[in-house]
Amino acid sequence: MRAQPKASHFINGRYVEDTAGAAIDCVYAASGEVIARLHEATDAIVEEALAAAKAAQPAWAALSGTERGRVLRRAADMIRAENRSLSELETMDTGKPLQETLVADATSGADALEYFGGLAGSLTGEHIPLPGGDWAYTIREALGVCVGIGAWNYPTQIACWKASPALACGNSMVFKPSETTPLSALRIAEILSEAGLPDGVFNVVQGRGAVGASLITDARVAKVSLTGSVPTGRKVYAAAAEGMRHVTMELGGKSPMVIFADADLDKAVSGAILGNFYSSGQVCSNGTRVYVERSVREAFVARLVERLKAGVVMGDPLDEAVTFGPMVSEAQMEIVLGYISQGIAEGAVVAHGGKRADRDGFFVEPTVFTGVTDDMTIAREEIFGPVLSVLDFDTEEEAIARSNDTVFGLAAGVFTQDFARAHRVVKAFEAGTCYINHYNAAPVEMPFGGSKLSGVGRENSKGAIENYSEMKAVYVGMGDVEAPF
Ligand code: NAD
Repeated sequence: MRAQPKASHFINGRYVEDTAGAAIDCVYAASGEVIARLHEATDAIVEEALAAAKAAQPAWAALSGTERGRVLRRAADMIRAENRSLSELETMDTGKPLQETLVADATSGADALEYFGGLAGSLTGEHIPLPGGDWAYTIREALGVCVGIGAWNYPTQIACWKASPALACGNSMVFKPSETTPLSALRIAEILSEAGLPDGVFNVVQGRGAVGASLITDARVAKVSLTGSVPTGRKVYAAAAEGMRHVTMELGGKSPMVIFADADLDKAVSGAILGNFYSSGQVCSNGTRVYVERSVREAFVARLVERLKAGVVMGDPLDEAVTFGPMVSEAQMEIVLGYISQGIAEGAVVAHGGKRADRDGFFVEPTVFTGVTDDMTIAREEIFGPVLSVLDFDTEEEAIARSNDTVFGLAAGVFTQDFARAHRVVKAFEAGTCYINHYNAAPVEMPFGGSKLSGVGRENSKGAIENYSEMKAVYVGMGDVEAPF
């Protein structure tokens, strides 16, 4: 099997196997070929990983931030040096085109390691002067053992986005990738180890939801960070609450993109393509409800369809000329095709695509619906596939109200040349991550995350540090202690 890792799990600085765990077949989505077979973590593997993480954490936290950061930055350099092979692995794991993975996955992981590696040495508390010469100080402390649980769309990035701030703050981590994409995180763990990360600080165990669930409730675990769907988020958040554990929840969305008549239409079309068809639409922050001011709707749809006809190249994602890959799995393809059928049944009009592509693998044509109304299922539920809904609007107030009429709040975008309007609209958006005249960029310096049902906490940016550490406050009495009796 062409992508078989050395073993299923990476614990305490080495690959570990336990074939008693149920098999996990890793399928190349462009062909259906089984490229690796791994095993779910048994109870013994989960125990080994948690014990390793618990044992390794104090010594890691006792290093200076600069020493911790050096390891992360070295790993970032190694990842960049290995970008091509990591990107090929990511493409095999996910089916995403190599053209994308070469620039968006390992590189983004390296950015996070470099950024948080750079911050690690300057994580400090503060001095607080108090009356009478007393004072207080705060100590920023690691939480302890963190659990990271990943989705299948950006496995390398998700592993690095969680590991980087966690490790920079002095935590250890047990990471469980999605069972659909188990490969990349193992290689990231191996690279971190080669970069000098002490054994046990970052561990990877494989498994389906039950393995994730067994990690969260262990008494040794202080925090869980999940990237996944809202239903899973509810379960994980509830399980974490039992032990009052910290959480970061990066969940699903149904984000709006509002295009005003004065927008640069070509930029808006580019934004809509990035926000609907990159990674074949399997991006949580996608702007799948595209509200276009009525007077430019036809022109927008015409240019969008023209660009899709000219630019979409399907084929083996390992071929760098390919711009559009398959769905990650047969199951995800069926979900997306189900939504397309439902859209048609509820009266939406297919302006482009709308079918499974006539080729091997789990390809769904990039699909544009027009005539969509806010109440249709395709306008309300997260599809997580290449399905864009065009809705038209007449006024700014209407566009804002309809954009916000959703249980989700991950992202939102606006395209206009009127900057006062742009800032007014993003202020009114009920979403954690907003864009003006751009869409879906996620640089590590910028906070990323959702509001409403789309999440709790933020990844990336200095803000993530708050989610992976806590403040100890120390009151220092310098004078008499006055007591009432
Ligand atoms: P999912 O919710 O099915 O699974 C996510 C992870 O949770 C997997 O590793 C899974 O094994 C694990 N899991 C499932 N049940 C669990 C349980 N009870 N306890 C612990 N772990 C459990 O999501 P998916 O299908 O892998 O990914 C797609 C979803 O992820 C979409 O909704 C997408 O929007 C979301 N997503 C969000 C972001 C973000 O940053 N906001 C990024 C990528 C994907």
